[in-house]
Amino acid sequence: MMSSMESVKALIGSERPLREVAQALHFSVRSMSAPVVGAMHLTCSDESEHECIDMLQQGFVQYLLPSLKFARQSAFRLANLGGRYEWSAARLAENHFATPQAENRFKLLLVKINSHVAYEEQPGKKFRLGLWQRYGVESACCGALAQLLSGGVRLPHVDDLAEAFDSEGHDRISALKDPARVEPLYAPLYAAMVSSRLQARKAVLDIQDYVPGSPTYYVVLPCVTVNRAERDTEIVCGMYTIDGREGGTEAVYTGLGDLPEGYEIGWEHGRFRITDEHLGLERKGRDHRAMVRERAATSRLKVHDDRLERVRADVARNKHKHHSHARELLRIALPVLAEVAPIPAVMLAFADGAVGIHHAFKIHRIAGEMKDTDEARRILDDIEAQIDQLSPDRAEALLELLVSDYK
Ligand SMILES: [Zn+2]
Repeated sequence: MMSSMESVKALIGSERPLREVAQALHFSVRSMSAPVVGAMHLTCSDESEHECIDMLQQGFVQYLLPSLKFARQSAFRLANLGGRYEWSAARLAENHFATPQAENRFKLLLVKINSHVAYEEQPGKKFRLGLWQRYGVESACCGALAQLLSGGVRLPHVDDLAEAFDSEGHDRISALKDPARVEPLYAPLYAAMVSSRLQARKAVLDIQDYVPGSPTYYVVLPCVTVNRAERDTEIVCGMYTIDGREGGTEAVYTGLGDLPEGYEIGWEHGRFRITDEHLGLERKGRDHRAMVRERAATSRLKVHDDRLERVRADVARNKHKHHSHARELLRIALPVLAEVAPIPAVMLAFADGAVGIHHAFKIHRIAGEMKDTDEARRILDDIEAQIDQLSPDRAEALLELLVSDYK
């Protein structure tokens, strides 16, 4: 079946009224004839995002979602500082909308992710972004992204944003602060775009790494709300679709990239139009576990340790397949590996699925730098603490993978 999300796709990169985006989503989703439609909406906590939340409610949620109570429809909502995706949120939302009507056919789950930026006309100058007169006082908007860019702030939400902005070997914060790479006037807008793109990627990783309660077609939409004195507008930065109607988990992405230095700004009827080299191309989402598996294969360490040799000998004689002996052997092997080769071990464990997908960015960083042994050990400790929860098959597979690499 052809994707019917074409009218949403056509909006990508263009600043449009909130209502227009909600309507395009409404009509596109309706044309997919899903027996059940669910929605999750992630925004920043900032009160200026109320308008964006309200418009999705009025233009989409109230028409398409099941009634939670009599004539009351509601999206699953996440609002926090900076609009950060919280791991497992899309899974919980999916679970809520896995209603009996969705079981036999499928449901469509919209995961809309908004970051935001203020736009203010300036007397004498054209305009400014990221600052406005809130209640008559100059105020950053988005305040959380402003904290991230100002640097030197160590708070949980800033660290969390920074991890995403630093992911996959790109220092996007430095790029945003470098006038040679990003025009300072547009840095707050580009920061918001990059942020929603990266948070959407986290949601997609989360979705791809588990089995939903009922077959689901996911639409993950990174957007930026432009908070204006008049009605707010919105830029759809891209769209991921994951067609899980037949159980597939492959993500297809179309839209803008996540590097701020790649964006180019233009104007269309007095509104922003952003382009970059990725716009208009469709590509498959990356498989982060496979990426780490490949990397692990090229960074094998030769480790000689008597304790590991004994575990290997047991595995070679298939002893680990008896009773729950694999778990016993893991209990021996994991602390040894944490001691002698924590980084390669944690990479293999992640590739195997034994480390939660929420560690994806962290694992990429550890694998790239090959020096944060403390973090690698912490993750290995977590695996060790959960050995009892591993099924015998999983324990065997993980053990084989871990010891086969140290010949
Ligand atoms: Zn904000």
